[in-house]
Amino acid sequence: RTPDVECKLVVLGSGPGGYTAAFRAADLGVDTVLVERYASLGGVCLNVGCIPSKALLHAAAVIDEAEAMAAHGVSFGAPKLDLDKLRGFKEKVVGQLTGGLAGMAKARKVRTVQGTGTFVSPNELEVQTNDGVKLIRFENAIIAAGSQSVKLGMFPWDDERILDSTRALEMKDVPKKLLVVGGGIIGLEMATVYAALGSEVTVVEFMDQIIPGADADLIKPLAKRLGSRLKGIHLKTKVVSAKATKKGIEVGYEGESIPETTLFDRVLVSVGRSPNGGKIGAEKAGVAVTDRGFINVDTQMRTNVPHIFAIGDLVGQPMLAHKATHEAHVAAEVVAGLKSHFDARVIPSVAFTNPEIAWVGVTEREAKEKGLKIGVGKFPWAASGRAIGIDRTEGFTKLIFDEETHRIVGGGIVGVNAGDLISELALAIEMGSEAADIALTIHPHPTLGESVGMAAEIYEGTITDLY
Ligand code: FAD
Repeated sequence: RTPDVECKLVVLGSGPGGYTAAFRAADLGVDTVLVERYASLGGVCLNVGCIPSKALLHAAAVIDEAEAMAAHGVSFGAPKLDLDKLRGFKEKVVGQLTGGLAGMAKARKVRTVQGTGTFVSPNELEVQTNDGVKLIRFENAIIAAGSQSVKLGMFPWDDERILDSTRALEMKDVPKKLLVVGGGIIGLEMATVYAALGSEVTVVEFMDQIIPGADADLIKPLAKRLGSRLKGIHLKTKVVSAKATKKGIEVGYEGESIPETTLFDRVLVSVGRSPNGGKIGAEKAGVAVTDRGFINVDTQMRTNVPHIFAIGDLVGQPMLAHKATHEAHVAAEVVAGLKSHFDARVIPSVAFTNPEIAWVGVTEREAKEKGLKIGVGKFPWAASGRAIGIDRTEGFTKLIFDEETHRIVGGGIVGVNAGDLISELALAIEMGSEAADIALTIHPHPTLGESVGMAAEIYEGTITDLY
């Protein structure tokens, strides 16, 4: 069959992985086609993930700060919600970014094809478009088809009151009573938004800690603050049944901390994301997919089929946009003939809750499990002039060092803007910095960033008393 489109590279999926790969490849002179099933480019992150959630979290943070200032002599009165306008703000933010991508694709002469793509051979992709099926013949492919939220079967998903993160971000209304199933990053970010807007939010988490990937000490300040804003956080507990009734969603629990409330107006199920590797006809191209739907790759992002690459959420954890974009550069550069490898030492994680939690590299728990000899420098924000000045002293900055070399191997920050502050730790780890390098770097005063230098000084013993 004659192909409708021929190209050197086809990229399947236009999320942070896909659009970055397509743009990088085009910049390197590779004739590239980008396939996306939705009209809007940008994938989960821009359309229904990172970006809209942060726009809504901004609104939540403003409400929280305005409330907190009342105790210090500046009162604004109760917030008045215009939900249409708030939604409009979120949509404008998303539109600005996704529209920008369309322009960037055009400027680079990346051809975009809208439709659902399925491999039909190792060099052909069939795309179901609005104008029928199009066959793309390619020399190389980069699979960036991402992931989707896990939909536990016990919930009646055809009922609109059962939300996944996409539905929760649509924000059709502010429910009176919201149950969040799963106390991971996405669940807690949405809990933060809805609680600030006025919902009574209950969180149920199966593990013994919210945000299970982070060290327990980082969680404490967040758990404490959420404790006063949410109806409850129930650990070691799971939802075992959910029934749609006229009055609401009636749930049943099992576990050590059963919530009082069993009837909710909305239930947000945020129990993880599953990769889309099994839904793209990979087997027709000879690409191996694991039982769970992941595609294994080497450090050049190559699958078991040498001219087909895979990046982003569907190649494994952590499922984060900044991991996808870095993998995208590698895959695109290899297709263009460069000798690139993915060799990042660490990938930071951030929960954009209030306070934020961010961590990178080795955690204390991991070090313990692996028997690594580490030392910790911890700076409590109660001793930070800036944190005192913004009345947010609950945070701290923790640096984790290899006890032998004094090189930084990890760290965590909890507090306002922790997500921005963590970059310095990631850079220090990539640069192989020793504690003295960080301690002797002059940080501007008064900033929260100073806490990084101070934590290194505490580890070095050059500060023994906090002043
Ligand atoms: P995706 O973004 O999932 O994109 C895949 C694209 O492929 C989609 O557009 C999909 O439509 C398309 N596609 C799939 N199959 C086909 C097919 N057969 N044919 C055509 N097109 C197809 N990460 C962060 O780093 N920071 C955050 O703050 C953050 N917040 C998040 C908040 C929420 C609510 C959610 C859900 C996720 C969040 N994430 C965050 C995770 C982040 O969104 C993902 O890690 C990221 O989007 C992965 O990028 P990707 O390119 O692998 O795939």
